[in-house]
Amino acid sequence: MPKPTGHDILFPSLPYDLHGRAQAATHDEQLQRFVNHATLSKDQSRKKVTLEIYGRDHLDDARTLAGQIKQHTLDHLDHYLETFVDNATRAGAKVHFARNGEQANAIAVAIAKRINARLCVKSKSMVTEETLLLPALEAIGCETVETDLGEYILQLDHDAPSHIVTPMIHKDRTAVARAFQRELGAKYTEDPKELTKIAREVLRQKYRKADLGISGGNFLVASTGSVVICTNEGNGRLCTSAPRVHIAFVGIEKLVPSLEHLTVLLKMLARSSTGQPLTVYTHTMTGPRKASGGEHDGPEEMHIVLVDNGRTEVLREETREMLRCIRCGACLNACPVYRKIGGHSYGTVYSGPIGAILSPMFKGLANYPDLPNASSLCGACYEACPVKINIPKYLIHLRGEMVSRKITKWSDRLLYRLWAKSLTNVLTYRLGGWAQKVMFRRRAKMFDNTLPEGGNPYTNRGWVGHLPGKVGGWTSERDMPTPPEKSFRQWWAKHSSGKP
Ligand code: SF4
Repeated sequence: MPKPTGHDILFPSLPYDLHGRAQAATHDEQLQRFVNHATLSKDQSRKKVTLEIYGRDHLDDARTLAGQIKQHTLDHLDHYLETFVDNATRAGAKVHFARNGEQANAIAVAIAKRINARLCVKSKSMVTEETLLLPALEAIGCETVETDLGEYILQLDHDAPSHIVTPMIHKDRTAVARAFQRELGAKYTEDPKELTKIAREVLRQKYRKADLGISGGNFLVASTGSVVICTNEGNGRLCTSAPRVHIAFVGIEKLVPSLEHLTVLLKMLARSSTGQPLTVYTHTMTGPRKASGGEHDGPEEMHIVLVDNGRTEVLREETREMLRCIRCGACLNACPVYRKIGGHSYGTVYSGPIGAILSPMFKGLANYPDLPNASSLCGACYEACPVKINIPKYLIHLRGEMVSRKITKWSDRLLYRLWAKSLTNVLTYRLGGWAQKVMFRRRAKMFDNTLPEGGNPYTNRGWVGHLPGKVGGWTSERDMPTPPEKSFRQWWAKHSSGKP
């Protein structure tokens, strides 16, 4: 299968094939190594730091508090949006509303045209990935440079982010060295310090010359009208302060009521995403530079584009909780499926467990029928989530919708209905268990330990190496243990002497 380009990843033909992408990913040993290593270490850091800071007794309380703050804001979003707009406008910012990606991009393009912007520096923003702002600006001749180091490397490599927080989790420093040598004419080096120096030298020139700066926003503070961005490289500050005009693209769900509430979520964000006590640079922007007030730094114009793009649909009471997400990426790091298939397999801007529920809501369940099934429902995402989004509950909810709206194939619906029926009847349950046992044991050749490995492809030392037809998916990537000769029920009848 050809390697997808950034464009393919953001625009898969719909409905797209998760299985094909995931299968290719599971055979990519390098991807497995990088993603597994990075997600496991981030997951462990999160667990260590959150336990150290909150203690086992208070961690759950802290998550509950963070979730309640977000839920309260979403429950009263109309009020907090109005308060935010009033305060941001009073501080001198111009607030725009965009119903969808096209409208949001059109606002930015109009501003860029008005100021005749030739060069734009941009910090990391998932919303601009959603709206595909970068190609829209490039189309009017405004060169747009990603300044987050990971995003910059992906841009040079014509690749797309594969993780909400660490976009180039699927690459290592050799890929960076090759990209810098090929695209920037730099000397090949794998030394991280040297690589950072090369990027810094190029990007500093861009900051100096840029007429437009674009950022996202981790939070919007209603009581002050501020946009808050958190970065570890400081690029967000330069993007939003050095150019003459700054535009922030922010989803409407990013609101928090006040600075006090912000502090709770800032701590949760840093600890859950990278295991840091706090992100290195937390930048709070309230309006543009006030020259009359003697301020020397900051843009002359500040625009805030509040983007809906499907969010009001998710705001329905049954699904509102999904919008609590603060994009920390902890659920991705904790998810055994994400670790195995990486972010690009999901074929959407948001990958991992949160992507599996948000993307179908934003873009239509019928377009992404595989995503709600891309989970083992182990619950690791729910345990990791700092704002307590019950992702498994929504995965099941979406699966139910797929059945009721007949998005799931009729043959699958029939199969599962029969299966469910057989599980509720003692006779069919026993018959099913017996048939399964006989089939598996036959496939495994009755615990044949004598066969050399790699001998008969259908057996592997007592494990079932291959199942036929529709159930073959269970064994396409791993073996199944062979069921014992006697079922648990038979064993119990013999040993328990009828006692409980
Ligand atoms: S769903 Fe929770 S864990 Fe996942 S990115 Fe959002 S806030 Fe983080």
